[in-house]
Amino acid sequence: MKAHQQTLGFLKTLSLHGVLRGLDELIDEAESRKVSYLAFLNDLLSAEIAFRVKRRVERNMAGAHFPVLKSLENFDFSRVKGIGKSEAVNLLDCRWIDAKENLLFFGPPGIGKSHLSIAFGRAAVEKGYKVCFERVTNLIKLLKTAEVQKTSEYRIRRIMKSDLVIIDEIGYTPIEKREANLFFNLISELYEKVPVVVTSNKSFESWAEMMGDTVMTTALLDRLLHHAKVFTLDGESYRLKKSRKEV
Ligand code: ADP
Ligand code: MG
Repeated sequence: MKAHQQTLGFLKTLSLHGVLRGLDELIDEAESRKVSYLAFLNDLLSAEIAFRVKRRVERNMAGAHFPVLKSLENFDFSRVKGIGKSEAVNLLDCRWIDAKENLLFFGPPGIGKSHLSIAFGRAAVEKGYKVCFERVTNLIKLLKTAEVQKTSEYRIRRIMKSDLVIIDEIGYTPIEKREANLFFNLISELYEKVPVVVTSNKSFESWAEMMGDTVMTTALLDRLLHHAKVFTLDGESYRLKKSRKEV
């Protein structure tokens, strides 16, 4: 009993919480299977590693700031033109993230742009990547306040250190010149280092109008499109279709 207490104390001191949680079960299992010392040690270490990986994914899921959780499983591909199911399922492997490729989703409201971007972001978190999701309006707010507000500074720093940044809803609200500049600088810094997923209800041509600067918008699009897969979605709004059905 004393030895057991001591072991628990050691595990706490060393922060081996994965082993700590499953200790009794791991010991019982080892005794009944009569495993070697080495095999037992490996069981303990692998329990600790599994626990840490799971905890990191949970932390990253919370830190991504997804507004809701979505997956491809309940996405109806028959409703939307511009992306095929197998093509989308292939993207779940996240090889595009390793290749620093961007994904750009265009299309009318309610077509599933945010849904898809969250589904890919979530798959990336589950695979161990660090992801940040932001609506562009909030992202700009963060950029504007980063110098005076610690929480904004931390968030921007997390964005810069992410493996993937998702920027949702570009185009719903016009952007002032100074804001557009901040946004452009961010994209420039992420360029070829951190891949981005962008969703927009406005076509490329309308971006210049939204940002109020043709030269800068061209430079921005140039960076976003350099290594990118572009999906132009079309079809009937899922929101409207659903509410019509409910009526
Ligand atoms: P967008 O970002 O293009 O405006 P959303 O992704 O927010 O649209 O979609 C609106 C709502 O409809 C969300 O709840 C989303 O989960 C759902 N939705 C959109 N398209 C589909 C689809 N093809 N299959 C299932 N749900 C969908
Ligand atoms: Mg959306």
